[in-house]
Amino acid sequence: MDIIHLLPDSVANQIAAGEVIQRPASCLKELVENSLDAGSSSIQIIAQDAGTTLLQVIDDGKGMSETDARMAFERHATSKIQSASDLFSLRTMGFRGEALASIAAISKVEVLTRRSEDTLGTRLEIEASHVVEQEPSAAPIGTSIKVKDLFYNVPARRRFLKSEATELRNLLTDFHRIALVYPHVHFLFAHNDEVLYDLPMQNTKQRIDSIFKHKNKNLSQQLVSVQSQTAIVNISGFIGTPESANKNAQQYLFVNGRYMKHPYFHKAIMTAYSGMLHAEQSPSYFIYFDINPEAIDVNIHPTKTEIKFADEQYIWQILLAAVREALGKFNLAPSLDFDRNGEIEIPSFDTSRSQPVDAPRISINTNYNPFKQSSSYRPTIPSPKDWEQLYNGEHITSPQLDLLESDTQRFPTRALQVQNKYLIGSFDEGLLFIDQHRAHICIQYQAFRKKITQQQGVKQQLLFPETLDLSTNDATLLLSVLEDLQFAGFEITQLSRLTFSIDAIPADISGQNAAQVLLNILQAIAADSISTAEQRVHNIALSLAQATAIRAGKTLSESEITSLLSDLFALAEYTYTPDGKRIVSILTYEELGKRF
Ligand code: ADP
Ligand code: MG
Repeated sequence: MDIIHLLPDSVANQIAAGEVIQRPASCLKELVENSLDAGSSSIQIIAQDAGTTLLQVIDDGKGMSETDARMAFERHATSKIQSASDLFSLRTMGFRGEALASIAAISKVEVLTRRSEDTLGTRLEIEASHVVEQEPSAAPIGTSIKVKDLFYNVPARRRFLKSEATELRNLLTDFHRIALVYPHVHFLFAHNDEVLYDLPMQNTKQRIDSIFKHKNKNLSQQLVSVQSQTAIVNISGFIGTPESANKNAQQYLFVNGRYMKHPYFHKAIMTAYSGMLHAEQSPSYFIYFDINPEAIDVNIHPTKTEIKFADEQYIWQILLAAVREALGKFNLAPSLDFDRNGEIEIPSFDTSRSQPVDAPRISINTNYNPFKQSSSYRPTIPSPKDWEQLYNGEHITSPQLDLLESDTQRFPTRALQVQNKYLIGSFDEGLLFIDQHRAHICIQYQAFRKKITQQQGVKQQLLFPETLDLSTNDATLLLSVLEDLQFAGFEITQLSRLTFSIDAIPADISGQNAAQVLLNILQAIAADSISTAEQRVHNIALSLAQATAIRAGKTLSESEITSLLSDLFALAEYTYTPDGKRIVSILTYEELGKRF
């Protein structure tokens, strides 16, 4: 008698789940990474009992079709790679197609999802790998995945979980690692009905500050920016001043939007500080590597954070030089000595590759002025938490959370326009004052972001292509963002080294001076101290939004006001523009009453 048989999928998935999902935090990481891969600009995480009874992730990404929603839970089902060769050019966080199948094998999952092109969404319930319900359902655009009773059918794993406090810490650790790389995404994190984080769209430095300010309220003043652009790798980020080093330093390395552990690169940073630190004190650092995906290997175990680089020794030198340069610029380090070709002792990482090492190519900005604040950093923008104080209403904890319960009724649908500039509407608790230009920037920004990340920008061919003569700097910048611009709807051809022709523009900006809009984009990108793919999308979307948003001075019709209001309050973040300017101000009836 033959005795070998194939395991049922549910059993195979449960075994695989043991590898991928070890605790609630691994579940959070997989769900949030999926939301980011789906191009979301707002992600809400809701956990109960450290994620053991409930972990829900709600996004406003591209959503799934009915068939895809079901397919997503099959093992090795992915939309992100087609063949093995795609593994070498990964730009998404996920690619294995294992996460949802694994999660569904060991919990009760509820999905609600809708794409923008569909009028109805899909609701799906899965228990232990079996679909128990699937039906069309009204749903907001995006995806919500609820994971209930994690490990309910794997008692051994459940027992293996640590205390609630520890598992919550694990959730937050993974949350920080992701939120630090996506500062332009709004994140909300609520645990047991308490909002622990409500991070508006920010720049990287503000995001670092928002996440760690309760641990170290001076952190952002203690950070120095690091920048190095080379042929091999772009390095950007922030390092702590030597004086601020302490025993609980925050140390983070990221590559292409992914958190990584890299003891060898850590050593490079510590080497740059050598002689500057007291014993047992470490500096904080947040270093972001941007590198051709072909030069790294992330195809390792899903829960591991180690990543292999092809040019580890070169990068070691570049990193050391960049950190030294940053410390030196702020007059913190002894004189720079990295140009004494080859004299720096490089610890051997891989002895089989001990070929001589060329001097790193480092670009130094000679116009750099250390006394000028980095222009992309705006200090202390109040967070939407300030709404709580504005409301004074005890039952309201966070407007975002209220929205989550789809209580959009609270917001006005009509408003009075004054000075052709502001809208005044009323709601249960008081009066809302809205800046029409900023509100529209916010709406347009989200729309352009979607178009770029989902590569859906609509082109309008120009009858007479416009020629553009650029400086060397601008030409280099333009080439670096050409692809993102195409996704937005531009068609640009390089005619010679510094001359370009604009052949098509995003349909939404027709009527604008296309060349000027492009120059604004380049200026925004040049001013940003960090150049990641995410930041490029942000800058392009913001510049396009600024160019096309309704101006102050424009009279709006009643129906224009209504659609502006409904578009604005449908956004997850409607209190501040993506560059941190206040959109909405509130006068409560209580405050109003005090005036009489
Ligand atoms: P992977 O991320 O490795 O592709 P997953 O099991 O995590 O595998 O997800 C399977 C597929 O489900 C994804 O490739 C994607 O197409 C779809 N998907 C998962 N989560 C979302 C989401 N939040 N929004 C849109 N699509 C999603
Ligand atoms: Mg995934």
